[in-house]
Amino acid sequence: MANMKYCKFRNTLNNLKDCIDDINERLDNLSLDSNGNELSLDEFNAMEEMIDVALAYKKIAYYFTINQIELTCCGDEISKEVRDIGICPTCLEHI
Ligand SMILES: [Zn+2]
Repeated sequence: MANMKYCKFRNTLNNLKDCIDDINERLDNLSLDSNGNELSLDEFNAMEEMIDVALAYKKIAYYFTINQIELTCCGDEISKEVRDIGICPTCLEHI
């Protein structure tokens, strides 16, 4: 099922954490889940494919997040100086 745009990252984060928990469980239990089931071949292949997807995500999301420019209420860039002063240079409200 497709994720809605407004919650896709939060939902996917929770799903990815579930997958990590599942793998940890299998590592501790000879590849079986808590119900004693092995992964199907399709699930195993998807797990393997997720490695490359996760690496690509890490690279692009890291790049995106470190390049975000924070803006004040008036659209001024929050430089280090503006952050240190803590006041919007245009309207002089606290940021
Ligand atoms: Zn302002």
